[in-house]
Amino acid sequence: MEENEDFQVPFNAENAGGCVCPTCPVQIRSECVKQKIKLESSETDPAKLYCSAGVSLCGDLDFSQSCICGTCPVWQKYSLVSKSPSLYFCRHGKAKQI
Ligand code: SF4
Ligand code: SF4
Repeated sequence: MEENEDFQVPFNAENAGGCVCPTCPVQIRSECVKQKIKLESSETDPAKLYCSAGVSLCGDLDFSQSCICGTCPVWQKYSLVSKSPSLYFCRHGKAKQI
C-alpha cells in the first residue's frame, strides 16, 4: 500500500506550546536536550514536537521510561493514537497516516 503523505502535524507555536515533551521522563535527564532547550536554536530538532519534526538527534534519551504523548493536547487534537508511530516520536519519527 502506498504511504499517504498528506497528514502532517503542523509545526507551529500553538502546537509547540501544548507539547509535553519538555517534561517527559524519556528526555528530562538528557544533557543534549537540556542544551537544546537552553539555546532554543534548532528548528530541525527543537527537543519537542517530535510528532511533527521527527526523531531526536540526541543520543542520550532514556527509552526505558514511558512516553507521555498520550497526555498531550496535540496528540488528542490530531488523533495520533490512530497514526504510525503513535508514541515515542522522538525515537520512531513523525506521525504518519497508516
Ligand atoms: S504528541 Fe508528543 S511529540 Fe507531539 S506535541 Fe504532543 S508531546 Fe510533543
Ligand atoms: S515523543 Fe514521547 S517519548 Fe519522546 S520526548 Fe515526547 S513525550 Fe517523551
